[in-house]
Amino acid sequence: MMYNLTDINTVKNLLSRHGFTFRKSLGQNFITDPTVCPKMAELAGITKDDCVLEIGPGIGVLTVELAKRAKKVVAVELDARLLPVLARTLDEFPNVFVVNADVLKTDLAALAAEHFDPADRVFVCANLPYYVTSPILMYLLESGVPFAGLTLMVQKEAGQRLTAEIGSRDAGAVTYAMRYYAESEMLFEVGRQSYTPAPQVDSCVLRLTPRKAPPVDVEDEAFFFRTVRAAFLHRRKTAVNGLSAELGLSKETVAAALTEIGLSPTARAESFSMEQMAALARKLRAAR
Ligand code: SAM
Repeated sequence: MMYNLTDINTVKNLLSRHGFTFRKSLGQNFITDPTVCPKMAELAGITKDDCVLEIGPGIGVLTVELAKRAKKVVAVELDARLLPVLARTLDEFPNVFVVNADVLKTDLAALAAEHFDPADRVFVCANLPYYVTSPILMYLLESGVPFAGLTLMVQKEAGQRLTAEIGSRDAGAVTYAMRYYAESEMLFEVGRQSYTPAPQVDSCVLRLTPRKAPPVDVEDEAFFFRTVRAAFLHRRKTAVNGLSAELGLSKETVAAALTEIGLSPTARAESFSMEQMAALARKLRAAR
């Protein structure tokens, strides 16, 4: 039986029959605006030859739209209480596999090898749980799985940070870290009234396109990411203090490195270009 998963009464009946109550701590806000999931799945650019990894299918409202367009969908859901619900709502889609797991504890390369053909393009499409947006995003990008594209719904502020120009006020540590792996693009905004229950914040849908090669030479990726985090430790202050404290270097050493790459010793991290951030990481690594 096909369920109308954007009809509030259908959703309420379905969930109450399974004794399900929403868990805020798991970021459980389900889309009930009928226009959002088809638009998201369409913009993801998936064809019948492609595979999709979805994170947090909930009751399957986006999963259904993905299943209609893709060859195969693997959906990773942490909350075991949703499995019997998904078994019903996805009953008509033999091309969907639900995996009950925490995505952050899942070996994604092994999951991809188990479910997808190496020749298939694999996309990620997900309405991410907001409490772990950045960790999941970085986990996906660092997984080594060559995703063709990631279409993600995130909190609006997170979306603004992720699509911010490097060197602008909206940029943060995650902007640099993400941009190392992918290009990003804002697709559309989603108001809080599009969900049940309605969250306190608005959202947006982004597309990330993984790069074939990193945009800068960093020598040591782990140290580059540590440098980025340290530089942004005190966001609205100069980068020196965070860099010195987190990397165990004197302020003089950090200030000298900043000067050598043409930055002021009182510069803030948000003003660094990607090349300057990479050059700084190289210098500080050598100075240890
Ligand atoms: N896709 C559905 C939709 O668009 O209506 C639900 C999205 S809801 C914002 C996030 C979903 O992620 C919930 O179903 C939640 O249980 C699940 N989730 C939360 N943390 C997770 C994790 N670490 N791994 C996998 N799923 C998780």
